[in-house]
Amino acid sequence: MSRFFSDKYRDLEAYTPGEQPRERKYIKLNTNESPYAPGPWVAEAVAREAGQLRLYSDPESAALRRILAERLGLKPENLIMTNGSDEALNFAFMAFCDAANPALFPDITYGFYPVFARVNRVPFQVIPLRADWTVNPADYQWARGTIFLANPNAPTGLSLPLAGIERILRDHPGNVVVVDEAYVDFGGDSAVSLLGQFENLLVIRTFSKSRSLAGLRLGFAAGSEALIQDLKTMQYATNPYNVDRLAQAAGAACLERDEYNQENVRRIRETRTWTRSALTALGFETTDSRANFLFVKHPAFPGSALRDRLREAGILIRWFDQDRIRDWSRISIGTREQMETLVETVRGLLEEKK
Ligand SMILES: *Cc1c(COP(=O)(O)O)cnc(C)c1O
Repeated sequence: MSRFFSDKYRDLEAYTPGEQPRERKYIKLNTNESPYAPGPWVAEAVAREAGQLRLYSDPESAALRRILAERLGLKPENLIMTNGSDEALNFAFMAFCDAANPALFPDITYGFYPVFARVNRVPFQVIPLRADWTVNPADYQWARGTIFLANPNAPTGLSLPLAGIERILRDHPGNVVVVDEAYVDFGGDSAVSLLGQFENLLVIRTFSKSRSLAGLRLGFAAGSEALIQDLKTMQYATNPYNVDRLAQAAGAACLERDEYNQENVRRIRETRTWTRSALTALGFETTDSRANFLFVKHPAFPGSALRDRLREAGILIRWFDQDRIRDWSRISIGTREQMETLVETVRGLLEEKK
């Protein structure tokens, strides 16, 4: 820290992203990226757009929003495009939280939420998940604040049925409920279908996972026109050209042939099912994950042991140094071949231990 660093951020603990190794080739199952490259038409669209880079991008992402709105059965006015969905989340913390409306979210969830709260000087209250790690909507009933729910949740992979989301929306007419659907394409029910009924609902999604574009940084929020306007105020107050030309062109090309992404999602779900039963057969406990990762625990490898041993063997997974989940690990779903290597490597480690 330099001596110039502001006192107001002296104690800020930033988010720790999963490792992006440079030195050696690992099987990367630590950051929930897609194992499949985007379709070649995405790179073609980027190459075409590159000739326009001397010009600023469209701050409204109008062409992209039109295509996306059509896909979702919404109006373009119900959408804002952002630099990754992390930016949409940050805008929501900025726009909808304050001393009277603290952020409310589960104890076990996306680790960025407390960071967004702290950097925006917003109080937050953690509402513990049930013992089985599901969300109990009744636990939110008497708390007042802006609610953030990742659904499916991370890193548990568990999904809250829409009836639960609806109950929370109905119990909190005076607050925004933000549903972070980063993983919804892999098996959850989307709250987009509820947008017509609830003006306090904001749904946030990303192109990073099911659409293979983590490196592009593209996400969006969907909600009532008024909520979207509030987020746009945050956009224009921080970075009007938040989505660059290449991202707008790539996003549009990606959506034009969305069947390709849907086929990849289908393969990932199939591989998830296969991997879960293979790991169960090796003595792992797993959750019923609806996401592109598994959350697992093995009695022989508690804590960070599994992560460390797999790392030595050339496979990266994610471990969280956090109460209640310290014995667990999150493993992204890769290709079938990568997951077979994972299972064989784990089998070897277990035999070694015997
Ligand atoms: C990955 C992830 C995001 C952020 O994705 P972006 O790459 O910023 O779009 C948001 N929420 C959850 C729960 C995630 O896992």
